[in-house]
Amino acid sequence: MSLQELTKGTVMKIHVNRVPDEGLKDHAVCDPTELDMERWDIRLPQPFEVDAFITKADAELVVDVDIRCPLRMTCSRCLEEFGQVVTADALFSYQVKPTDVVDITDDVRQEIILAYPMIPVCRADCKGLCSACGQNLNLGPCPHHPGRGEP
Ligand SMILES: [Zn+2]
Ligand SMILES: [Zn+2]
Repeated sequence: MSLQELTKGTVMKIHVNRVPDEGLKDHAVCDPTELDMERWDIRLPQPFEVDAFITKADAELVVDVDIRCPLRMTCSRCLEEFGQVVTADALFSYQVKPTDVVDITDDVRQEIILAYPMIPVCRADCKGLCSACGQNLNLGPCPHHPGRGEP
């Protein structure tokens, strides 16, 4: 039984009684489309990936996840679109009964949203747009920003 087989659409569910004593290592590819994770400046056009190591001890289920999530973002300075992969590591623990099915989707979703940049910027030295004429100053100077000795 793999976590991927347990993944139906956007949901990652762990059946506690199927986790062996030595733990369960697995990988899931998850569709973000129904998870309401987008902002006006951050989009998720591709699935994200989760590597999970699941262990249980008595009444506790521990899930160690590594998340890789490709994002398309709009630069806050120049408004160009760019791609970036964000990663997140997290450890979730749940109090469980042997018959429980634990849905980790919402916790994974929260971790990804926490990993988003506060303000997306395409590159650290992005020059942005001229406020007078709208020229993308990464592409060249405009009459209002005539170079000023920039490289
Ligand atoms: Zn930019
Ligand atoms: Zn200008």
